[in-house]
Amino acid sequence: MRTKHAQAADHFIHESPSPKAQHNAAIHLRRKRDVAANELQEFEELRTRASEIKKHTLTHLDQYLEEFEKNALANGVQVHWAVDGNEMNARVYEILKKNEVPYIVKSKSMLTEECGLNHFLEEQGMEVYDTDLGERIVQLAHEPPSHIVVPAMHKTREEISALFHDTMNTEAGNLDAKYLTLSARKDLRQRFMNAKAAVTGVNFGVAETGTVTICTNEGNADLGVNKAPVQIHCMGIEKLIPRQEDLGVFIRLLARSATGQRITTYTSHYQKPRAGSEMHLILVDNGRSHHLGMEDFWEALKCIRCGACMNTCPVYRSGGGHSYGYAVPGPIGSIIAPARNFEEYDDLPFASSLCGSCSAVCPVKIDIHGQLLKWREVIVEEGEVDTKKSLPMKVGSWILSRPSWYRRAGKWARKLLSWFPGIARKTVNDWTKGRELPEPPNESFREWYLKTRKNEENE
Ligand code: SF4
Repeated sequence: MRTKHAQAADHFIHESPSPKAQHNAAIHLRRKRDVAANELQEFEELRTRASEIKKHTLTHLDQYLEEFEKNALANGVQVHWAVDGNEMNARVYEILKKNEVPYIVKSKSMLTEECGLNHFLEEQGMEVYDTDLGERIVQLAHEPPSHIVVPAMHKTREEISALFHDTMNTEAGNLDAKYLTLSARKDLRQRFMNAKAAVTGVNFGVAETGTVTICTNEGNADLGVNKAPVQIHCMGIEKLIPRQEDLGVFIRLLARSATGQRITTYTSHYQKPRAGSEMHLILVDNGRSHHLGMEDFWEALKCIRCGACMNTCPVYRSGGGHSYGYAVPGPIGSIIAPARNFEEYDDLPFASSLCGSCSAVCPVKIDIHGQLLKWREVIVEEGEVDTKKSLPMKVGSWILSRPSWYRRAGKWARKLLSWFPGIARKTVNDWTKGRELPEPPNESFREWYLKTRKNEENE
């Protein structure tokens, strides 16, 4: 097992100019989510309903995909299937080439991040303009997003101001958020106006109508799609829901869980091409069918990408989104990534305190920390855990299952810790880096309890 996440998180904490920015922004969103959730009496009911709808859809996915395709084709949409990221990228490129498109405007899509679409198109000599403000910031900084909803969460206003000065020649040192936002808007305006193609992700695909729903706060997806004569929507096959009426459940949960809003500013539904335009829909598997077949982990495909599990996760908030090294970071990314590439990401299930806060906020009730624990079992069974970790676990398991040995071990541990307080620090155990152990007590709880009860009985 590699320890890439731990090293990258350590680097972020010690080398990043603003490790606190990520923490503060995430905790702010978590608080807003709580306020929004608490003001809705039926919030828990909605979570249960959403979880059931997703379970039903995923267990009948073949049927709903066929229904979705049939209805989309009947609407005049050109439907394409992509078995993996390479195929998705190739389909997008073919469409763009056929229409002699020199550049695209693209709204936020974690699927295109996952498949490396920007990089692929740029290699073919095509320009890509990310139009979501956060995405544009990280694109200009040549960085991947650090959060699925707030891609530039790790950046401070000072960093963004300097970046815009370097790349867009804005006024040096101007930290006014409105000025910076308007500068980015102005910079993108002409790209929107002259774009021949717009690419988007998809939040929900409705099987009953063959419609795709896209939620944004900036209207950038809508501006691109309504202006360009070619619109391309890239959709992971797990994004389906059966009926139009199911949408209400998810729309009410998504924004509340993501940013604490009651609804995203723009919730747009695309059903057919405008007159004289083309509408393409690319349905992408890229490991999802394989993942769906994993008995212990398929539930992660219910995810609606709200980011709430990231905002609440103490490991994500401290170590930063880039430390995961996968398009979807945080607790849910730590389940999905090893399902897609076990060798590459088998350290991620350990990037969690297993506190369960992620599961408590997830709007589709995924047992996130349960699945992370299950992944750890798989990784141990596969022999991927190094001896430094597995040996103490074996010894611990042996001692914990033998009460007399447990009591003896506790006594010796208390003595050792009081004689040599530094014994557990740094060199012996990574976990104690940056943490102070409390003073060891003179007696165990059991000893204290027996003594106290005896005293009480004698009184
Ligand atoms: S796992 Fe749940 S909380 Fe995390 S992003 Fe997905 S839907 Fe949101």
